[in-house]
Amino acid sequence: MGDGTASLPQLLDWLSRFSALVTENRTYLTELDSAIGDADHGVNMVRGMTAVMEKIGAAPPEAVDALFKTVGMTMVSTVGGASGPLYGTFFLRFGTTAGAVTELDGAALAAALRAGFEGVIARGKAELNDKTMVDAMSPAIDALDAAVAGGASVSDAAAAAFSAAEAGREATIPLVARKGRASYLGERSAGHLDPGATSTAMLFQSLAGALAG
Ligand code: ADP
Ligand code: MG
Repeated sequence: MGDGTASLPQLLDWLSRFSALVTENRTYLTELDSAIGDADHGVNMVRGMTAVMEKIGAAPPEAVDALFKTVGMTMVSTVGGASGPLYGTFFLRFGTTAGAVTELDGAALAAALRAGFEGVIARGKAELNDKTMVDAMSPAIDALDAAVAGGASVSDAAAAAFSAAEAGREATIPLVARKGRASYLGERSAGHLDPGATSTAMLFQSLAGALAG
């Protein structure tokens, strides 16, 4: 097993960085969604993560499962778009798999992230290369698993996950969308970054930042 753990304060920092990053990139995410969707991905993510930060700021949960239950339920209830229930399910499954603990070692972090990812698949039924957030999430989780299995620290494993998420995000450009609103465009969806894959790369950028060093 690799070195280090992800502590509850670091997991809170993950969420706070993610909230800040989507807020900073609100216009960018919405522009990406205006090309192949309905121009609301930035607005959706900011609405959801702002509500999350308000909720957990008002009453900071004391265990990982309680924290991510609040995060997931808040995403589901505040975001109207497809991304709300998908990110919500991700966080809910992450929390139930992590359990009532205050830190996660590499293996526990990998298992919780994998469960979150499987929740996204169960809910959205997307496959790899359907041009969705799955295209960033799947390689990120695989990279994190491989790094942890190879004895990397949680910090190095999260950095590997972020690089893989970025590569997965870029790989969505030539794809034709087969799920979500972008699929209504058919072949015309090719040639654009997927907005959800872009916010998912930010999710892993935030995790890597929170666990760095
Ligand atoms: P909406 O499409 O309802 O307007 P958003 O704009 O917030 O919601 O989110 C769009 C993103 O959601 C897409 O870019 C894509 O990554 C993701 N998405 C849509 N449908 C699915 C699905 N079935 N599975 C996984 N991700 C999906
Ligand atoms: Mg949209």
